[in-house]
Amino acid sequence: MNKIKNIKCFIFDMDGTIYHDNNLIDGSLELINYLKEKKIDYYFLTNNSSKNTKEYLIKLKSLGIPATNSNIITSGTATIQYLNSIKPQANLFIVGTNSLKKQFSDSGFLVKENPKEKIDYLVVGYDTELTYQKLVDAVYLLSKNVKYIATHPDLLYPAKDNLYYPDCGLFTYMLKVATGRKPLVIGKPEKAIFESIIFEKGYKKTEVMMLGDRLYTDIKGALNANILAGLVLTGETKEKDLEKTTYKPTYVFNSIKDLYLFLKENKD
Ligand SMILES: [Mg+2]
Repeated sequence: MNKIKNIKCFIFDMDGTIYHDNNLIDGSLELINYLKEKKIDYYFLTNNSSKNTKEYLIKLKSLGIPATNSNIITSGTATIQYLNSIKPQANLFIVGTNSLKKQFSDSGFLVKENPKEKIDYLVVGYDTELTYQKLVDAVYLLSKNVKYIATHPDLLYPAKDNLYYPDCGLFTYMLKVATGRKPLVIGKPEKAIFESIIFEKGYKKTEVMMLGDRLYTDIKGALNANILAGLVLTGETKEKDLEKTTYKPTYVFNSIKDLYLFLKENKD
């Protein structure tokens, strides 16, 4: 646990780690307030690219969690940062929500609606406004060998009442069957989304820790990015799952409250 004392930046998954739907998990508020007081950086990370950072900000604020836009990293904002680092102001065709398209155009990219125009990259996100025409256009662009990025790999999005909605990974799977093309993926468990934070802010990898409730996204992603991986047992993963997984977390906490109590006892 000594390594945790050196952490300058905590990255938190949200659902199952900080809150369940509209209820804060015990200890979240105390932990975030503590980090803020001690001037330790923190970010909230989500693979969901259908919403923008403002929508998450509203949610966190409604729960009383202190946050600003810059504390929230979606797979959409991480993709923007990645593309900005290699081709700012690129011409993009986006299979994504209007909210995602606006984030890209607000960041200086030229978002095209006609696939016959010059397109540098096809970007696929969690498009809850998907239409047949967008799929036709995406297949056309992939057949023309346009470069291809997906915001995240999730096949299904866990909605309310145990329902699952088709997510970004299902769209890219469909496009792979159609064209044989596979995207560069940015979101968890790929390291790109973590590196977008680490490199942009200039942290050493030993100064960054991820906390989340899913082994195959949060923990696998942290291990891919070579940062400390903390699992909380307040979400999807149960203690017995740890025996058979290949994604071994560096630390396991019953809940986020345990991390808060550790920091309070050992850093003060
Ligand atoms: Mg989660």
